[in-house]
Amino acid sequence: MDQAVLILIKPDGLKKSLTGNILTRLSETKLEIVAAKMVRVSKSLAEEHYKHLKDKPFFPEIIHYLQGDLHDRKKVMALVYWGPDAITKCRDLAGSTNPEEAEATSIRGSYGRITTSGVYENVVHVSSNVPEAEREIKLWFNPDEIIVDLYGTKTVAQKECATKVWADK
Ligand code: UDP
Ligand code: MG
Repeated sequence: MDQAVLILIKPDGLKKSLTGNILTRLSETKLEIVAAKMVRVSKSLAEEHYKHLKDKPFFPEIIHYLQGDLHDRKKVMALVYWGPDAITKCRDLAGSTNPEEAEATSIRGSYGRITTSGVYENVVHVSSNVPEAEREIKLWFNPDEIIVDLYGTKTVAQKECATKVWADK
């Protein structure tokens, strides 16, 4: 069954210059990239993304982590991969959440680490199931940033909506 999955290359992945390696590994899946962008992550976006973990003791740390505070890289790369069994294929390639437990050949097993304060710096995020993927993709992307129609859309008239455009083009 065709599925969409949100992938984030987290700030440690960017700091370690792993974008190329991670995209190469993900290309083994033969899935299609249907959206991609760099994002400066606000506190509210990070908190909404990880809201299912808000009662965990490590929640404040992973919000800092996703915002780039631990790596001097205030950005993540967000992508949507699409195709047959996309979630399982990408999660298998990513490996276990704990990089020490992840298979050595997986992305997290190859490049992740546990910090002295106990945060799993595991270089990528991959949606964990179909409802989570839909929630996360709708959180990170607008419909017109994705080149296929994944979910239902509606058109709303915007009143007095200011949009930044190129000064000269
Ligand atoms: N995390 C952590 N310690 C834990 C569990 C999770 O530092 O004991 C971090 C880790 O970076 C992980 C993120 O919190 O990727 C989100 O946790 P989740 O359980 O959703 O794992 P994932 O879906 O990313 O494998
Ligand atoms: Mg998760």
